[in-house]
Amino acid sequence: MVNQGLLYVVPTPIGNLADMTPRAIEVLNQVDVIAAEDTRHSARLLQHFGIKTPALAYHEHNERQLCHKLVERIQLGDSVALISDAGTPLVSDPGYHLIRAARETGVQVVPLPGACAMITALSASGLASDRFVFEGFLPAKSAARCQRLQALVDDSRTLIFYESTHRIQASLADMADVFGAQRQAVIARELSKRFETIHGDSLSALLSWLESDANQCRGEFVVLVQGAAAVEDEAVSAEAKKVLVILMQELPLKQAAALAAKISGLKKNDLYRLGLTLLEK
Ligand code: SAM
Repeated sequence: MVNQGLLYVVPTPIGNLADMTPRAIEVLNQVDVIAAEDTRHSARLLQHFGIKTPALAYHEHNERQLCHKLVERIQLGDSVALISDAGTPLVSDPGYHLIRAARETGVQVVPLPGACAMITALSASGLASDRFVFEGFLPAKSAARCQRLQALVDDSRTLIFYESTHRIQASLADMADVFGAQRQAVIARELSKRFETIHGDSLSALLSWLESDANQCRGEFVVLVQGAAAVEDEAVSAEAKKVLVILMQELPLKQAAALAAKISGLKKNDLYRLGLTLLEK
């Protein structure tokens, strides 16, 4: 049952229409208007489920102007559902300005759980899922992309990226350069669709696999990269660890790791990562 004066955030399938939830259909049927990223694209979905609710275009080019008008409409009693072309709105999709404007004005936002490519990919990746970071799309140009990747090189969480067919090979090549050819990763392609493929290997092996089979470069991709290996205590001598622990009591971790590296001759990054794991304990 849909209430008036609410803003619903409604995920839609990422490939398989059977993933549309009954609640999503109910909400889309009952709201006064659907704010859709691309009304023509969503028309097919709405038609499939016999949903006749009017839709208006709400996309990255008009969202700043339109969000206040939509919020005013909701304040006057209309209910609105936000959808994107696929998956969960706001996840690499428009909606941020609308939700922010709604919350700032006290409009209640009701999010529906549903399809999201990165979570679907993570759930089948076999990579650590207790801590992960979603990085969305990487920059299109290699220099900017490498800079972004460089900032993640020591991150021990599973790294999740979205990628398109045009850039999947170039991005994997940059990942292999920055993270090292042997870092493990998983490619999740065409999830929930006919050619769904979930394949894990080292970054260099994944790149060769893509280069050898043009079919594997087609479609939509989630790339998941294993986080930087946590430094094993044994890799750092007991003496160096003792030095690090003492310095960490007096200094920020970055400085403590740099000084401990000078004293012990070990790598600053290894000591920094060990420091992070000590802080977590
Ligand atoms: N909002 C969506 C979500 O919840 O996942 C993401 C939208 S973003 C514009 C589109 C990107 O998501 C694609 O380029 C791809 O990286 C990823 N994606 C979407 N559907 C996918 C699928 N079926 N399989 C793999 N990746 C997918």
